[in-house]
Amino acid sequence: MINITWDDWGPEHLFTEGEIVTYATDIGVYFEAEMVKVTCPVCLESFIGNKKEAGLFLLGHEKYHEHVEERAENYGGV
Ligand SMILES: [Zn+2]
Repeated sequence: MINITWDDWGPEHLFTEGEIVTYATDIGVYFEAEMVKVTCPVCLESFIGNKKEAGLFLLGHEKYHEHVEERAENYGGV
């Protein structure tokens, strides 16, 4: 039985790379989720969290940088 939820624990907890945690969120329970560190190849911003969030972080950055680049092309910037 897991009596700790993401809401009262996750936001205050700083993860370390390689840490294995089990926690509940409002959408489900992560069992022994490995905390991974990823770095955006474009702006070198880093993120540590579970693999799903890490993937979303990278996807989000990819989209964001694509968007910025597109705008720069369209408006003759850079
Ligand atoms: Zn980035």
